[in-house]
Amino acid sequence: MIPYGKQSINEDDIDAVLKVLKSDFITQGNAVPAFERELSKSCDVPYVTVVNSATSALHLACLALGLGPGDTAWTTPISFVATANCIRYCGANVDFVDIDPGTFNLCPLRLAEKLNFHRKKGLPLPKVVIPVHMCGQSCDMKAIFDLSLEYGFKVLEDGAHAIGAHFHDRPVGCSDYSDATVFSFHPVKIITTGEGGAVLTRNQEIAEKVALLRSHGVTRDPEKMDQEPDGSWYYQQVDLGFNFRMTDLQAALGLSQLERLDQFIETRQKLADRYTRLLADLPLKLPEVKSGCFSAWHLFVIRLNLEQIALSHKEVFEQLREAGIGVNLHYIPIYRQPYYRKSGFEGFSLPESEAYYQEAITLPLFPSMTEPQQDEVCSALQKVLSQ
Ligand SMILES: *Cc1c(COP(=O)(O)O)cnc(C)c1O
Repeated sequence: MIPYGKQSINEDDIDAVLKVLKSDFITQGNAVPAFERELSKSCDVPYVTVVNSATSALHLACLALGLGPGDTAWTTPISFVATANCIRYCGANVDFVDIDPGTFNLCPLRLAEKLNFHRKKGLPLPKVVIPVHMCGQSCDMKAIFDLSLEYGFKVLEDGAHAIGAHFHDRPVGCSDYSDATVFSFHPVKIITTGEGGAVLTRNQEIAEKVALLRSHGVTRDPEKMDQEPDGSWYYQQVDLGFNFRMTDLQAALGLSQLERLDQFIETRQKLADRYTRLLADLPLKLPEVKSGCFSAWHLFVIRLNLEQIALSHKEVFEQLREAGIGVNLHYIPIYRQPYYRKSGFEGFSLPESEAYYQEAITLPLFPSMTEPQQDEVCSALQKVLSQ
């Protein structure tokens, strides 16, 4: 089976991890801050805090943005469930905004409509909006930022797919148009630490809060304590935090992977361009890249023109799997999950998200994918669609 995604690990990565294993600190050592510094340079953003997953990063960022019971946050239904769950972890309510059918990103026009409608009707307005850079292409962050100024909400970018992407020549993660950005370093993503994530921000207060909550809410900084330290052993727990730390083994792997970020993106870009050429004549809608966007190409998602195809979406999907092509579907609209249906979304649906779910298929794409493997995917697809 050709998988839809997979990590690329080389000897340098292995050596970097072994070096930490043989050192004195396998956690809470120097590799974590070193990885944070390199991410900060790479994304041109002053503060980076790495954690044990993007899910933890989203959770801590939501807490740092002050999200709590009684608040509402809005996001897109076409994402992994973690993007909505982080809102629930804070005890806040979730609502969903429909997508742009070409980029599958949260649509700023639908967002503007919904904000206007909620304001007019006295319905809850969001405290935080979480756009997701689907497949590695940035949302229209300028449009979302302008709305945030008008309606007074905060913006948290879910950039789990998008390290290495650019929006108007600025790296995703720079957080020019948001309060913070989150990355994931899960093995299917662009670079990996096994499990891992990061919160990037230009706001010192948010960064300090995330760092505090990452490690039990415990501080050794006398300035943050409510009394003089009892002695040099002294620490204080000043907030209810977690253990969401990344280990130094992971950070060393991340540092080594980050050196190859441009290379990974270049290979993904080449493969995506090649898919676009090879699939041009099939009854498909191919992914659109908007002007001003440079995608990290985490995913290559096609949409079937079902009226031109004899088989159903499910049949196409199953037959590709039978042909050894590890296709996937990113994502089932989150409001369709039983947990969300039980929490007020029974019968809820958004038209573009539904249409997307009926047609979308993710094709394999990863840096070590060979041209013959890609040809195999394309000919399997051609064969299935010509029935
Ligand atoms: C993978 C992913 C996450 C969660 O990342 P983890 O590091 O696995 O916790 C969140 N949001 C999106 C859009 C993702 O793709």
